[in-house]
Amino acid sequence: MKKRCSTCKQIKSTSEFFVNNNHRDGLCYYCKACKRKFLDNLPPWNKTYLSISNRCSFYGSTYYKKGIKNLITREELKSLWFRDKAYLMEKPSIDRIDSNKHYTLENCRYIEYAENIKLGGKVVRSPCGVDNGKDSERRRLYLQSPKYKARRAMERKQRLATMYY
Ligand SMILES: [Zn+2]
Repeated sequence: MKKRCSTCKQIKSTSEFFVNNNHRDGLCYYCKACKRKFLDNLPPWNKTYLSISNRCSFYGSTYYKKGIKNLITREELKSLWFRDKAYLMEKPSIDRIDSNKHYTLENCRYIEYAENIKLGGKVVRSPCGVDNGKDSERRRLYLQSPKYKARRAMERKQRLATMYY
């Protein structure tokens, strides 16, 4: 399958696009290369924000299942970035101090990725959290599954049911 990137206008294989649940074809509008370029230009705390949102909103993820919510803002992450001097770290990663609690200003801190691994928490493998190959593949398979289609159909029905009242 091929798809045209809305940014570079090139026609590429669908494997060159990240998965996006919110779109009809289940893929991002722009290709991986364009997305990476876009991410490279973001301030690092915004990347953290995106990766947290992804983690918490992905239907099949452990975060989603555990009900972990993203209750931190970009501004708060920025303040943590400077408070914890993440810019001095080799590979900064966001850590939840209490892993049973949500992503909040009080419960988050930037620590070295290696340190985060040692603590044994769930760590996003890639620094920006978007290029998580295994998760993408899982999400793609899920989007094509009858279970997902049934869920979508049910949601549509509920929407229609409420529309006329
Ligand atoms: Zn592109």
